[in-house]
Formats: sequence, C-alpha cells, structure tokens
Amino acid sequence: MSAQNSVNRRGFVGGVVTALGYLTVKSPAELWAQARGNGGQPRPQRTTEDYDLLVKIANNENPYGPPESVMKAMTGAFKYANRYGYPDGGIVDEIAKHHGVKPENIMLGAGSGEILDVVGSTFANNGKKVVGVEPSYSQVYSHVTSVKGAAITIPLTADYRQDMSALIKITKKHYREVGFVYLCNPNNPTGRIVTKQEIKQLLDGLPEDMPVLIDEAYHHFVENGDYATSVPYVLEGRPVIIARTFSKIAALAGMRLGYAIAQREIIQQMRPFSTGTISAIVKWGGVAALKDTESQAQVKRVTIDLRNKTTKELSSMGYAVIPSDANFFMVHLRRPVVPVIDEFAKKGVLVGRPFPPMTEHLRVSVGTPDEMSKFMIAFKDIMANPVKTASGSGLR
Ligand code: PLP
Repeated sequence: MSAQNSVNRRGFVGGVVTALGYLTVKSPAELWAQARGNGGQPRPQRTTEDYDLLVKIANNENPYGPPESVMKAMTGAFKYANRYGYPDGGIVDEIAKHHGVKPENIMLGAGSGEILDVVGSTFANNGKKVVGVEPSYSQVYSHVTSVKGAAITIPLTADYRQDMSALIKITKKHYREVGFVYLCNPNNPTGRIVTKQEIKQLLDGLPEDMPVLIDEAYHHFVENGDYATSVPYVLEGRPVIIARTFSKIAALAGMRLGYAIAQREIIQQMRPFSTGTISAIVKWGGVAALKDTESQAQVKRVTIDLRNKTTKELSSMGYAVIPSDANFFMVHLRRPVVPVIDEFAKKGVLVGRPFPPMTEHLRVSVGTPDEMSKFMIAFKDIMANPVKTASGSGLR
C-alpha cells in the first residue's frame, strides 16, 4: 500500500500511518500505552525500600542524582513553597544567556515532555500530522494522535539511522497535511546521532515554513564530532524548535524541568498550550545546574566510560551493539526481547521497554558501576538459558 493510500485510508485523523515500507495503524490508547511502555496501566507503586533496591537502567536517567550545588539551591527555595510571585533565580534569563538567545525565545515546560506535547497541540491537532521515524521517542506521536492529529512514520535505515531524504520526500508529498517534522538527536532508543550535515540537508530540503522539532534530550552526552546542536538555526530565523531537558545530565527527572528554544512568534503560538506550572524548587535547581558544568562533565565522562566498557564486553561475547552517542545503548539479543525484559525484572533489574519493530533489541541505560556489573551478571545468566515459553518448550 502506498503511503498516500495509507494516509487516505486513515481519513487524516487518529493513528499512526507508517510510510515507505510498512503500515501500522494504532489507536490512541495503544499509542499511549506504547509510549509509556507499561500496557497503559498506571506505573506500579513500590515501597521506598523495594524501589531503592532495584537496578534502574530503564529510563536513561542520571543515576548519581543532583550534585551538591543543585541540592543546595533547591533546598534554599523551599522558603517559597507557600508563594506565587516568588523570585525564581532568573531561570528564563539564565537559559537564554546559556544559549545566546533572548528570553522571548524560551518557553519552560514541566520536563521536555511537556514541550513535545505543546508542539503537538500547536501544530498537529485536528487532522494535521507529524512526520518522523520509528522507533523514536513515541510520546510525540501518541500525543499528536490524542489531539486528533496523526503520525506518518518511516523506518530507520538498515544501520539504524534516520533517513533525511526519506523524511524530506514524505513531508513534501503530504505537505498540506503535515504540521511539523520530529527529529530526535541523538535518537532514543538507538543512541545514534543525526550529523550536522544531515540536519542541514533536512532543513534545506523541507519547505521553508515547515516547523521542525529537534529533541536534544541527550545532547550533553555526545562526543561525536559530526554532531552539533541545532540552536544556531533558531538564530538564523528558521522555524526550528529545540527541546532540551534537565532530566538527563542534570539528574532532575523527578523534578520536571525542560524548555523550548524557538523564534519569538513560534513561542507565542505555543504558549496557550502550556500549563506554565513549574515549581519554585526546580527553577532554582535548574539555575544551579546550568552553572555546575564541572559536575556535568564528570557525569558525562563516567557514563561514557562505563557505556564503552559494557558495550565492549557485550560485543566480545558476540552480541552486536548499535554505536551510541547517548547514556544508553541497544544490544541485539538475537531472540525476542519481551521475555528477556521479564527475566531481568524477576532479578530486580529494570531495563528498557520493547521498541517495535526492533523486537530483538534491548535498550539499556548506563547506570552506576555497581548497577552495570549487576546487569552483566543478569545478562550472562539470562542469555545462557533458553527462554521458557508457556508450552514449556525452549526458545532461543
Ligand atoms: N525526549 C526524549 C528523547 C526522551 O528520551 C525523554 C525522556 O526519556 C524526553 C524527551 C522527556 O523527558 P522529560 O519530560 O523528563 O524532560
């Protein structure tokens, strides 16, 4: 079925239309469940003791927690807990200064997840579409679907990269219906970057008024010289929206702070869709985190070293690993990933959810050295045994 037919069949609303190769149509509920990776159920509630004992390498977090400087700033902000118009440390100005843009180019979000939702609500509601690759950070597609838009997704290339020519082609083909293009760089779940040349190719190749959301959640972990942030394209006046988060390198996932960088007009268009509710505590934490570049450099170093050590060991055992530029990586198990994830869970090791259509790849976040050695012990044990099926037959 051609991509055009697929789109027509969907009647332009609701669901994912996968173009150039295969077609998947999912309901908003299925997409929501896929994005959350828990079958759509509320996250399981655990006691503090149980939670602390788990090896948490499922969500690409910083396992070390916020540094002293950030804890101090957050603790100091508790005195504003009962106020609305409190001093906020100048968080917007500080972010703007950090990127060399104006405060009017910044919009805060409760995590960059809110920014992704706001972009979807602004540009791809009511029959409009987002174009991107699959697998990627699917919250973008699920949110667009929930606001009665739709997603056109194309597969990754054979080497798990995002195909710029294909993204340009499919966007041009559906130009009138496309609300924005989504690019995750480095991509989650693969960890692969889009090079600076490829970003240029994409932006130059798309219609010049096409909004492009570039999600740089893992920017701080990249060492690859072929990568560059796309913030300069905002300064150039292009309709590019950069999403950044304090949840990864800055270790503030539980505190919820992210932001968008874009043209003033785009930010103004987006503002009515944002809640604007960021807590006093995390605003102060964010300001301190921006300044504590030394702690972030340390986290980057230790994370990359540990990622390289772990992936080298897996490769030497004969498991192919996708080259990653992020704080996570994907290993090819050569067997279905779902039962393996379950086996890890039984051992108290939380690993990444499945990322269809990559059904034999496991995504592993880089935890602490102790967590990674527990991961390797569990991996060797699980992979040495055939997967047990309901019928009792062994399945490799
Ligand atoms: N973008 C990507 C690529 C992610 O992987 C995540 C979270 O894992 C987010 C955005 C959202 O993160 P947060 O809402 O915590 O900023």
